[in-house]
Amino acid sequence: MNKDTSDPFVHVRGARENNLRNIDVDVPRDAMVAFTGVSGSGKSSLAFGTLYAEAQRRYFESVAPYARRLLQQVGAPQVQEITGLPPAVALQQRRGSPSSRSTVGTLTTLSNLLRMLYSRAGTYPPRAERLEAESFSPNTAAGACPECHGLGVVHDVTEDLLVPDPSLSIREGAIAAWPGAWQGANLRSVVNGLGIDIDRPWRRLRKKDRDWLLYTDEQPLVYVEPEEGRVDYGYEGKFWSARKHVMHVLADSKSEKMRERALRFVRSVPCPECHGSGLRPEALAVTFAGRSIAEINAMPLLEVVALLRPVAGRRRADATTSTARSGETTEVAVRICRDLVARVEVLLDLGLGYLSLGRRSTTLSSGEAQRLRIATQLRSGLFGVVYVLDEPSTGLHPADAEPLLDVLDRLKAAGNSLFVVEHDMDVVRRADWVVDIGPGAGEGGGRVLYSGPVAGLEPVRESATGRHLFGRAEPLAHRPRTPHGWLRLRGVTRHNLHDVSVDVPLCVLTAVTGVSGSGKSTLVTQVLAEVVRGHLGLVPEEPAEAQLEVDVQDVSGVESFDRLVLVDQRPIGRTPRSNLATYTGMFDAVRKLYAATDAARARGYSAGRFSFNVAEGRCETCQGEGFVAVELLFLPGTYASCPTCQGARYNAETLEVTYRGKNIAEVLALSVDAAAEFLSAVPAASRSLETLREVGLGYLRLGQPATELSGGEAQRIKLATELQRARRGHALYLLDEPTAGLHPADIALLLRQLHRLVDAGNTVVLVEHDLDTIATADWVIDLGPGGGDAGGRVVAAGTPAKVAKARRSATAPYLAARLA
Ligand code: ADP
Ligand code: ADP
Ligand code: ZN
Ligand code: ZN
Repeated sequence: MNKDTSDPFVHVRGARENNLRNIDVDVPRDAMVAFTGVSGSGKSSLAFGTLYAEAQRRYFESVAPYARRLLQQVGAPQVQEITGLPPAVALQQRRGSPSSRSTVGTLTTLSNLLRMLYSRAGTYPPRAERLEAESFSPNTAAGACPECHGLGVVHDVTEDLLVPDPSLSIREGAIAAWPGAWQGANLRSVVNGLGIDIDRPWRRLRKKDRDWLLYTDEQPLVYVEPEEGRVDYGYEGKFWSARKHVMHVLADSKSEKMRERALRFVRSVPCPECHGSGLRPEALAVTFAGRSIAEINAMPLLEVVALLRPVAGRRRADATTSTARSGETTEVAVRICRDLVARVEVLLDLGLGYLSLGRRSTTLSSGEAQRLRIATQLRSGLFGVVYVLDEPSTGLHPADAEPLLDVLDRLKAAGNSLFVVEHDMDVVRRADWVVDIGPGAGEGGGRVLYSGPVAGLEPVRESATGRHLFGRAEPLAHRPRTPHGWLRLRGVTRHNLHDVSVDVPLCVLTAVTGVSGSGKSTLVTQVLAEVVRGHLGLVPEEPAEAQLEVDVQDVSGVESFDRLVLVDQRPIGRTPRSNLATYTGMFDAVRKLYAATDAARARGYSAGRFSFNVAEGRCETCQGEGFVAVELLFLPGTYASCPTCQGARYNAETLEVTYRGKNIAEVLALSVDAAAEFLSAVPAASRSLETLREVGLGYLRLGQPATELSGGEAQRIKLATELQRARRGHALYLLDEPTAGLHPADIALLLRQLHRLVDAGNTVVLVEHDLDTIATADWVIDLGPGGGDAGGRVVAAGTPAKVAKARRSATAPYLAARLA
């Protein structure tokens, strides 16, 4: 593979991907190399866009030479030459949503082993036949529960959702789930005709009648008399119970709005047949160590290991016979258990012992998901490859980052190279080599400022990384604030929080800290958000997920908020049709600007013409997408620039209209920094652009598709969109790890903006691991002490200085070191 194996370096010559300025760089193999620099400087363009992309291209060329031409069109990185490059594996965060059916067990492939264990070595009921391994998977026809088709949940209505206010009568609209307007009036008349009092408060109706009205499948026809002001003719009306109506809408309605409304009345409950496991009864009847596979799937990994270790450690084993009722003492059982225990132990080392195999991947944080993938790689036994990682320490408490770094060291010791895009200076310090890109972002970056052992970065004056790594950066000036009242929660119960009391100070910036799995997101992005949302009478942001109950006994202080803003890292749009300009609303101003030019007026072009989503203005070949799909058998979803518009997205006539010498496609290609200058005469656009620059996003292009943005960028765009609104009142801002993916220099920018929100009278609560951010918070709530069942309690609360002294807090020692 490498002709000259005595040369331990990968040589990159003439890299020009994205903003890289024709750079040459040599990086060592069999080492941990950190790629650093402010956001947008070009780290990922080098590590992923050039090195990984080239390794991948070579791989595909070797397996499918016929695809060479297509690959050149779509995938070849802009680089003159790379030598000494081993095959590469990328372990990226997020990108592409995991399917809702994947779980911790499927991600790590542990589920396959476990199914094998039950199939080959489980204890079967008398006379039952041995099942194939697939029969233990809810995702196969052989294994799926017939009631819920393997989903484990069924959707159903409950009285408290259907009838939110039982003091109302049916005439007053007690059954909120019924349709409004004519249909609703019709149902009331039908109920009246059935002899049920529609003027009596709901709670005073007989239980039997209430249940019938809500749940019956019967649909009697009732003659409805003509009614004053409603119908002047008699007719046959059909009854629909509230459940029947809701289910009918969900199953049959073509209207997205109607379906969303109906979902408000639905709760997902565990399937009564399989108790949520999604498995058919025959599979659930098989046990190992006294447990069904569903029980093992629901256990924390820590307990799974404890349960299987005795079998794994067994010295003597019986021969396997396919007719025995149980195979628990056989050679097969011992072998599979040994393998399972060894693999799960890696997950325990990474601090993930609180997860269960059945946990859905959609509910994992990106840090948890990445650690699972890293652990899976560790067992794959590959050597001589480069692992390219995207901020492995993201989302990790410093106490969790250490074991992860140990695992990375093991990957390296096994003969692999690690190329790591990283912002955490504590991780960078452990690297063998650092490649620092910069000095700024976008056009202002793209140069190699330094490439060599970490210590050598110290004298490099231009490097923001050097300033932070060697303690030369100016600390954020901050005078601690005092709270103006409290939001008090009593008896909070959700996931691992059990009857917890939490006081959140108002009008200050609070950091919620704790190791992974301690309950931070549960408290902040779920409980706090739901409590305030409930107070404001808002519906959940994601109505597609059926409602959960808010499990809080008592709340005070919530009246003080008149707005809730959840600034999370979810993408700002799921299609390349949404981008920075459309999301912030600035694109409206730009389109109006183009419609107001003389050329546009002469041709009768309205603002709509300048949208790439509208037929008149957009390129017909690509329908305004700018790219077309390329058919490659083994590379699903591969795209190439549109041959007609070369990615411009508009048709030629639209592009003839210019403002200050640029057409609309050229404006979308501008960076925020450049656009701020170009559009300085357009106030509506300038305001947005200014706030985007203030949060450090000056390097993004206006037309950058939402799908290309990182979670951290999406989060800062949301924040900037909020800042540009500048409103009165008291908002609660909830942020989940806003500093993830940011260079310390960018964190400083972001913090300044967050403190500005507090100075304007708002309350800000962050889930946070970054010690500099925690140190400048007004208040800290530390959860823990551990993850999962070992956490879920408030270990310490108070000013950073106070929490730094707390005993039993995993955060305290790190915070104390930072404050010293
Ligand atoms: P970093 O990893 O240091 O944050 P990136 O390598 O992602 O920086 O980005 C470097 C520059 O390239 C930025 O100006 C960014 O906007 C631009 N860029 C990133 N991805 C693309 C892309 N797919 N097309 C064009 N420009 C891009
Ligand atoms: P943190 O944000 O501190 O990492 P979380 O609030 O995400 O912690 O998780 C706290 C505990 O709740 C963990 O044991 C986790 O496994 C569990 N948990 C979190 N989300 C879910 C979920 N959707 N379903 C079941 N358990 C969950
Ligand atoms: Zn079921
Ligand atoms: Zn096109």
